[in-house]
Amino acid sequence: MKETPYNPEIFPLLRENIRNIVPYSTARDDCKTEMDIYLDANENPFGSVVNRYPSPHQGRLKKILSVLKKVPAGNIFLGNGSDEPIDLIFRLFCPPGNSSVVQAVPTYGMYSVAAAVNDVRVIDSPLTENFELDAGALLSRVAPDTRVIFLCSPNNPSGNLLSREEILKILDSFNGIVVIDEAYIDFAASESFSALVGQYPRLIVLQTLSKAWGMAGLRIGLAIADEYIVDVMSRVKYPYNISVLDQLRAEELLADPLPAMDKVAVLVKERERLAAGLSSLPQAEKVFPSDANFLLVRFRDKDKAFSDLFRNGIIVRDRSSAYGCSGCLRITVGTPEENTRVLDVLGGAADDTGRGDVYCAHSGYPSGNRRSSVFRKTGETSVCIRVDLDSFRPPRIATGLHFFNHMLEQIGFHAGISLDVICYGDISTDDHHTVEDVAIGLGDCLGTALGNKAGIGRYGFSLPMDEAEATVLLDLGGRIDFQWDVKLQCDRIGDVSSQMFVHFFKSLAEHLQCNLHIRAAGSNDHHVIEGVFKAFARAMKSAIRKEAGGSIPSSKGSL
Ligand SMILES: *Cc1c(COP(=O)(O)O)cnc(C)c1O
Repeated sequence: MKETPYNPEIFPLLRENIRNIVPYSTARDDCKTEMDIYLDANENPFGSVVNRYPSPHQGRLKKILSVLKKVPAGNIFLGNGSDEPIDLIFRLFCPPGNSSVVQAVPTYGMYSVAAAVNDVRVIDSPLTENFELDAGALLSRVAPDTRVIFLCSPNNPSGNLLSREEILKILDSFNGIVVIDEAYIDFAASESFSALVGQYPRLIVLQTLSKAWGMAGLRIGLAIADEYIVDVMSRVKYPYNISVLDQLRAEELLADPLPAMDKVAVLVKERERLAAGLSSLPQAEKVFPSDANFLLVRFRDKDKAFSDLFRNGIIVRDRSSAYGCSGCLRITVGTPEENTRVLDVLGGAADDTGRGDVYCAHSGYPSGNRRSSVFRKTGETSVCIRVDLDSFRPPRIATGLHFFNHMLEQIGFHAGISLDVICYGDISTDDHHTVEDVAIGLGDCLGTALGNKAGIGRYGFSLPMDEAEATVLLDLGGRIDFQWDVKLQCDRIGDVSSQMFVHFFKSLAEHLQCNLHIRAAGSNDHHVIEGVFKAFARAMKSAIRKEAGGSIPSSKGSL
């Protein structure tokens, strides 16, 4: 049997309570061979892959990673993302309330979050103006209680590799733990420091499957370190920290790693193309050189760049508040098409369909192409609406009013469009603002999606609902005329007051700029209103229909 790893250089660096910690002994620890019958872990014996606990040591996955990373499996710790080893580093080496770490800023935000959680002081050591590491400057900040130095290379958010020479100086002169976070190393033309863990037992290299390997959703991060550090981390971690499915999926995806590597090559090429394209834009003041899959860009007006991108459905990260990053946005390298779109939008080639200060296209659908989205926030409500007139997907509706939700769903289903409506409103006061603001937003959104409505005729739909009957006439010609002849008997239908329905359709007609005539009668209010919504949806369906060839029908619709 193999000896438990021990390293006399590391032992005194550990917090006292951790030094001889006895881990939770899992049932599967003790059982090294395959057995026929497992009655040791109180699992449910019936079922599929997930009825059994996962391997606490992730032996198969570590073997694969040992090959890919070219380090012995015993030097690999696997965590629930890199976040887990980052937190464990504090728990192993930093006595709460009584120690500090040094980080080279600007850098990844998790180090200071984990420090705060563990009650450890953070000392910031600034990188130079071009985000280069000066080992002497950093070492001069080290305090007597400093236990760990965090370096990130390639660095996030600046994107550049830190100088190998300067890092080596720190490894040679600091006698605590040195962490080098290499989350982006696969995008860099540089050797990993992982080859040096044998030589520097106080070195911990962090890597992840989240970025170059395309598995952010699986949450698997690596710490590559001296066997003793790996052993202590494994004793302190949650026993089953990586799920069965995540381990299996990673093993599957890594079985043939070539496609992922090809994609990294594409991204590196795209990074250079994007950098060149952005550099040529007058509003980009500086594109910082990157060894990662993102670019830090200083804009002359970063808010304008951000909102231009946002209104076109592109979200980037505002890093302007990070040290030394004033005016900077961080842009991840996307697919070639996505990067072209970024360059088009910022270069002014994309049409800007944003709607002033109140309205902006919500993430998701860019306006145009018969899709539209609005995000509208007032004192009383916050409304997000998306429509796509040319595709159908079940509606996603949430307004806090059950009956209203049900009615809006009728519009999506019966018009055969994709419709999402999310409204956070002051419904504890009453339903007025919610219903009205959804109507306004929906009218605007449908109007934008329809674009140039010229040629769209007049449509009507008459629909029986049990004993009730509803007729809706709709003319999208651009004139606004609203008529309402609907008799309701009760004050409320479900959780919506009856008077709000006339209000809903009136506001909708005004904002969609249409003629809308609604007539309905019946003895059950619920059926009457449901009939109205369905008939409206059916009339919409005819009105927005595209003829073969994509043109909008120009003949008058029938009544
Ligand atoms: C993205 C990132 C990670 C990875 O985090 P995971 O928890 O593994 O997804 C680690 N460090 C840096 C600097 C990062 O940017």
